[in-house]
Amino acid sequence: MKRLEGKNVLITGGSTGIGRSTAIRFADEGANVAINYHASETEAEITLGEAQGACSLIRERGCKGMLVQGDVANEEDVKRIFDEVLKAWGRIDVLINNAGIQAASPTHEMSMDAYDRVLAVNLRGAFLCSREAIRHFLDRGGGGVILNNTSVHETMPKPQYAPYAASKAGLGALGKTLALEYAGQGIRVNTVAPGAIRTPINREWAEDPEKKALVEGHIPLGRAGEPEEIAAVFAFLASDEAAYITGQTIYVDGGLTLCNDFRTPWS
Ligand code: NAD
Repeated sequence: MKRLEGKNVLITGGSTGIGRSTAIRFADEGANVAINYHASETEAEITLGEAQGACSLIRERGCKGMLVQGDVANEEDVKRIFDEVLKAWGRIDVLINNAGIQAASPTHEMSMDAYDRVLAVNLRGAFLCSREAIRHFLDRGGGGVILNNTSVHETMPKPQYAPYAASKAGLGALGKTLALEYAGQGIRVNTVAPGAIRTPINREWAEDPEKKALVEGHIPLGRAGEPEEIAAVFAFLASDEAAYITGQTIYVDGGLTLCNDFRTPWS
């Protein structure tokens, strides 16, 4: 029996990067996966083709896969996303709040549009999806699992990325609050905080050898992580092997949060 056999999972932003790897890992472990994707003319480079590709990989593994289009920052979209999955499959066991964006700018030059959009996708989006998942878990009884994707910047400051760091810190607090509020109803809420992972969000440095060396120089294990290494931790946290874990953030960062600069004592 596979660890996630027959579980129904909804992953936001699931057609690329960490979300895509997580969708595939969950199918490898026997789960049916609903992949939310968002494509807008102004924001996403995600095509329907990419999303369909991710969905085919689920089905190739003998699991059910479905695509649900929608912007997680939009309340009506989120309600529709859940309606579509519940209409098709009747229940959801695991929600993964993975969708996220970032915007880089010195803070004194940051536009409010950029600030608002990062907070809307990363924090409001996770709140809206969590609220919908909790309503469903309470309606059907029997609990459920919510997993969040924050970042090492849940706790590490990131100059020129103030809204990103603020959204991820907020998401960490949201996860802990929901874990405490709904523990009595069998709902577990945990968070994975990745370090530097090779995905489309990091194209800018990952494809530039000098910048890549700079980034990896700060990582005690000496390399960027792979999306599959994050997917593995999501799969563990979704499974019954993590039945006694709730309200936690697990840092999956090659030791980045250990502060590499202090590795060699100087006095
Ligand atoms: P990615 O850009 O491939 O994934 C982000 C996904 O979110 C994309 O599929 C995108 O289309 C989707 N998305 C964006 N706005 C959306 C919206 N409004 N509604 C629904 N979906 C939307 O990059 P990734 O690295 O796989 O990022 C996934 C998550 O991991 C993000 O939350 C990111 O902050 C987090 N993270 C990534 C890293 C890293 O180094 N790659 C590190 C820490 C945290």
